[in-house]
Amino acid sequence: MRGLMMDYQLTLSAIIERAAGLYPAREIVSRNPDTSIARSSYGAVIGRARRLASALQTLGLQRGDRVATLAWNHARHLEAYYGIPSGGFVVHTLNLRLHADDLAYIATHAGDRAIIVDDSLLPLLEQFRAHTSIDFVIVIRHSDTPLPAGMIDYEALLAAAAPDGSEFPPLDEHDACGMCYTSGTTGRPKGVVYSHRALCLHTLAQAAGSSIGAGEDDTVLAIVPMFHANAWGIPFLGAMVGCRQVLPGPHLDAANLLDLIARERVTIIAGVPTIMLGLLAVLDANPGKHDVSSVRQALVGGSAVPVSLIKSFKERHGIQILQGWGMTETAPLASVGSVPPELAGLSADELHGYRARQGRPAPFVEIRARAEDGIAPWDGIAMGELEVRGPWVVSAYYDSPESADRFTPDGWFRTGDIASIHPDGGIEIRDRSKDLIKSGGEWISSVALENALMGHPAVAEAAVIACAEAKWQERPLAVVVCKAGQTTTHEELTAYLLTQFPKWWMPDATEFVEAIPRTTAGKFLKSALRTRFAERLLRVTG
Ligand code: ADP
Repeated sequence: MRGLMMDYQLTLSAIIERAAGLYPAREIVSRNPDTSIARSSYGAVIGRARRLASALQTLGLQRGDRVATLAWNHARHLEAYYGIPSGGFVVHTLNLRLHADDLAYIATHAGDRAIIVDDSLLPLLEQFRAHTSIDFVIVIRHSDTPLPAGMIDYEALLAAAAPDGSEFPPLDEHDACGMCYTSGTTGRPKGVVYSHRALCLHTLAQAAGSSIGAGEDDTVLAIVPMFHANAWGIPFLGAMVGCRQVLPGPHLDAANLLDLIARERVTIIAGVPTIMLGLLAVLDANPGKHDVSSVRQALVGGSAVPVSLIKSFKERHGIQILQGWGMTETAPLASVGSVPPELAGLSADELHGYRARQGRPAPFVEIRARAEDGIAPWDGIAMGELEVRGPWVVSAYYDSPESADRFTPDGWFRTGDIASIHPDGGIEIRDRSKDLIKSGGEWISSVALENALMGHPAVAEAAVIACAEAKWQERPLAVVVCKAGQTTTHEELTAYLLTQFPKWWMPDATEFVEAIPRTTAGKFLKSALRTRFAERLLRVTG
């Protein structure tokens, strides 16, 4: 009774071909570097993606060759997202915020043979190209600046290629289609290689009604960069469900984003909490100035989403935040915080609290939390390192045998996140293992303290870090940015926290700063705070 169904290959090219056939006219909108708006469509983007695929072959690239991108979010980057994997090559998104030395390491380790680069990023490329095996530099020109010798003009390459109608080659679903490196905050960056099958199933799960729930009548603004974890899969989700896509180019400041949301009537936005905090500050400071009435949902993840952010967006601006959890190693979406119907009767505050968790796993993603004495029960209390497995979860890093310890003997991926799992399967991330504060043998969740602090009316941003201390080994230190024109004190914040946490969780001190440093993905960079306040911590304890 086996083998009576077709052995149909799950490939990104199938998603992309279908989009070209079903909704060629649907718009892809990009913000240009000069802030003007460029309009394209799935039909045009996919036609050009076909040309790109055949042009890469003409250059002499072979199946499986890595083609890097170094670009902001715009339609031509989307063409690369579609054309490179559909042509049988591997799209390797490089993070344009990394240091040139890291880019040299990553591009070399990945074996990138070609790169598609925004002209504005050529100076960055020049700093590391010589160290790599990149043979072809293909430049997306946003200005009339002449092309340096030896480089290929992206438009000229496409113009000379086989016409829009040419077919993508047949592919195997287990072929690699994409590659992305982890940030490397601990050790060298590590490469994750996605297969067509993995990203197809990831896209299907995202499209499922209980996930992001984007449909043909949606307009999705990916604020999350296309060089960060596949832009959370939105480029492929868009092609699968046929939503309009809006791409902000290099303009990620709140004013430009809010302008784009209003003028393009965006219905779904996706970005990290720090971006959302920035949008909230501008919205709150300018009542009635920005029309965000079209937005029905914001997908927010990448770090824990403070409940105060969820409440403020919902109650003051009518925007529902949906939290997602995931990692570069999980393609990235592994869970989303949609609310089951049984909870519909909860109060508004209880629902905000539920949404502040990281949600239940996507179909095919299995989760478990490993405590010191074994797998923790799903009781919402016991904590342990979150382990995951599933069809879009990494099973080994690329060419990195030294990372084998990130996988359990029975094949689960160790996330490095410390979580409790609730009886309904909902994940609650308590901390990253490296950020946890261990005081007198007990754990203090820096995430819980930060999120609570960001609920204080005078606080714009907060991070809590561990400091070494003789008696308790580690104690918490709060680092706080006040809202414009507001002030508060360590004592006032402690009194506020004491309403929610035990006394021994209280930060020993609070540092007030102008800004919290960010990672290249826009998250709070706590390692920089630990370095900066190393001295301060000694004084706390001394
Ligand atoms: P990095 O943050 O190291 O650049 P990733 O972008 O892959 O790498 O981020 C993965 C990590 O981000 C997770 O391991 C987790 O610690 C954190 N993270 C992602 N989403 C959430 C979330 N919703 N809540 C809390 N932490 C999150």
